[in-house]
This record gives sequence, C-alpha cells and structure tokens, in this order.
Amino acid sequence: MSNSEKLFAEARDVMPGGVNSPVRAFGSVGGIPPFMVGAKGAYLTDADGKEYVDLVCSWGPALLGHAHPEIQAAVHTAVDRGLSFGASTPDEARLGALIKSRMGGVERVRMVSTGTEATMTAVRLARGFTGRELVIKFSGCYHGHLDGLLADAGSGLATLALPGSAGVTAATAAETLVLPYNDRAAIEAAFAEHGANIAAVITESAPCNMGVVVPEDGFNKFLKDTTAKHGALLILDEVLTGFRASSSGYWGLTGKDEGWNADLYTFGKVIGGGLPTAALGGRAEVMDYLAPLGPVYQAGTLSGNPVAMAAGIAQLTHATEEVYAHLNKQSEALQSAITESFNAAGLDHSIQRAGTLFSVAFGTSEKGVHNYADAQGQEAFRYAPFFHSMLESGIYLPPSVFEAWFVSAAHDDAAMEKIFAALPAAAKAAAA
Ligand code: PLP
Repeated sequence: MSNSEKLFAEARDVMPGGVNSPVRAFGSVGGIPPFMVGAKGAYLTDADGKEYVDLVCSWGPALLGHAHPEIQAAVHTAVDRGLSFGASTPDEARLGALIKSRMGGVERVRMVSTGTEATMTAVRLARGFTGRELVIKFSGCYHGHLDGLLADAGSGLATLALPGSAGVTAATAAETLVLPYNDRAAIEAAFAEHGANIAAVITESAPCNMGVVVPEDGFNKFLKDTTAKHGALLILDEVLTGFRASSSGYWGLTGKDEGWNADLYTFGKVIGGGLPTAALGGRAEVMDYLAPLGPVYQAGTLSGNPVAMAAGIAQLTHATEEVYAHLNKQSEALQSAITESFNAAGLDHSIQRAGTLFSVAFGTSEKGVHNYADAQGQEAFRYAPFFHSMLESGIYLPPSVFEAWFVSAAHDDAAMEKIFAALPAAAKAAAA
C-alpha cells in the first residue's frame, strides 16, 4: 500500500470523502489522489517521494511558482512580527493600492479571506446599493459556494454533474436568474421582463470553471452597457482570472482597451500569494455602502491578515510584465504540443484560451465551446485515461476536464519538456 493510499484511508475516517474541497477527491477521474508533502517552483512532491510538474498551481495562486523566495521571505518576516492583530495594519492599504493600480474603476478595496466571501459580499452590496433583489448569473460560471449562486454552477458541481446543491432554499434560488453564457438575446429578454428588479449581473470575466470559455467579442461590454442602461451593476468575478489572465486580469484584455470598467470586481487566489486572502473592489460610490460608512454589513476576524497581506504584496510586486510574457509563451507552447499530440493520435478536440489560461475539450473541433451546454456535450470520458497517463508520467493536471490549466513563472523549458514528453502516450490513452 502506498503512503498516499494509507493517508487517503486515514483522511476518509476524519473528513467527508477524505477531503476539504470536493475536486481533490478525484471523483471524476477515479483512483487515489496523491497526498502532497512539498512544493517548489514548478514541482510538487507526494508522500511517496514522487515528483510532478504541477499544472494546477494551487488552482491559481502559485503565479510565480511554489515557494517563491521573495514570497517566502516576506512571509517569514511577517510571521516574526506576529500572526494576527485584530486591528488595522499598514500592509492592508498597500495591497489594496496595488490592486487599484492595475484594475480600471477600482477606487476602494475591501479584503476578505476567500473568493466565496468576496462574491457573497459583492452580491449583498449590489442589492443594498440598488434596493433590488434579483441577480443574473450564467450557467457553468462558478462564484464560490454561496447559496444563491450555486444554481447551475461549474467547477466541482460540473464534475459531480450536480444541477446545484441540496440545502439551498427555493426562496433563495428564486432570487437568481440563471442564463446561458454568451447569449445576448436571453439577457435582453431577462431585462425586458425583470429590469426594474435586477440588482446585478455577475459573471466570471472569462469563465474558467466549465473549462475555459471565451466571452464572444464585445460580450462583457454588452453586459456593462445593458446593466448601466437598466440601473443595475456589473460584477466581474476575477477571483480566478485576476492578475493571472494578464497583469490586469481578463478585464485587461477587454475592458481596458474598450474603455469600460465594471462597477464591482472580486479577486482571490493570486492576490494572497498562496495564503487565504480575497477582496472586492470597485466604484467608491458603491463600495462606500459597506459598513462602517454604509448600511451593508460585512466583517471578518482574519480579514486583511498581516501574513497574507505580506504574501500578496510580494506576489503582485514580482508579477511583472515579463512574468506574464513568460506565462503566455509557455502556455502557447503547451497548447501547440497538445494539438500536435492529439492530432497524431487522431483525437478530435478544441482548445479554449483566456490570456495565459486555457483548457482542452474533447470532440468539440467543429462547434467549439461557447457555453455550459457545449462544455457538457464534449467527450468528457476521454479525460480520465488522459489524466492518469499524465499522472503516471509525473504531470499533475487538474483532476477534472471542467477546469483550467495553470502554468507559472517557474515553468522553465526543462519542466515544459517533461510535459511535452508525456503527451503522446496520454493522447493515445484518451483516443482508445
Ligand atoms: N469565483 C471564481 C471565478 C472561482 O474560480 C472561485 C474558486 O475557484 C471562487 C469564486 C471561490 O473562491 P474560493 O474558493 O476562494 O472561495
């Protein structure tokens, strides 16, 4: 019995499914998840001493690579000053200022601890600001596990093929209108019918939780224009894409050039440098509705935690344009290698790309993937044999076809060569 097998058995005795976040249980690919004991640069090491090139990167936070020396040093210095003060600290505003400097229309920032808290607060704030109740979300977009936004969500729910979650009341579900992604007519119809009561549209800036799906040209601008016309807010969820798709998130590849800003944004993952921090930000007029200035309540014992702030500041400070150029280069090289191996194996596929992020969808070359129905219609059964062949060869992929692939600044050519070498056999396994 391997060490991971023993650890998984022990974990199942203590935690539901042996995990603290469902996708880690390998439900959709099967098998025993390797338990990790170390991470450095582009590599993970499991409890049996096997090393993997990591294409999950902690689901996004490890932008500079694992255990980046500057982040480690900043964290050690912060730890030596104390772990949590329960009072304001200088680094909170510093990290907030870094976020403001890169994102259009972010005039105020509020730190929270998880992406879920960020979207939950953004939705409450949009309702409090507009005095309206309904929120529009898109099928296949995941915004964390807040009750109201679990309907037809991607990520682990896509993997488990669940339409939503038990435990969400019908009354709560009824406050969210779920529409197909990239469908302007559906949005116009929803506003025509409910416009006076729609507080906000929330969307992943580029969806990455049903696999990557690219917003069609001008789609996010259309959302901005439509919400503005009806007195609703646009919430761009950049928890995954923020400071990862580009130096200014996916907004930086769309709104920045098109000359529009979201009313509210949510961030997480990269801004915590690997520690639990997330944030929401946006127009001062809206953000100042938050307590203590305004009537919308939100708080957090560990919000703006000094160790997490130090990690986030170090990460964003070192996330230079050169880093994003490197991420783009390696991501493109990987996409080309995938296409080459898949074509050689006669494997029909398409690759969806949002800045440095991408994912692969099987059997979709003709139609592409434009929404959740397309993503779910792919030949998803091909992913498990592909995944396990890569894992065997020491490449750690997301354990679900409905997730994005992540590279980091530490993915050098040696790490990429290992991935390229593993692809042909895995493509054959998927084609079988
Ligand atoms: N929003 C998006 C787009 C996400 O991808 C995620 C998590 O993957 C969240 C929100 C929730 O963040 P967290 O897992 O930190 O609660």
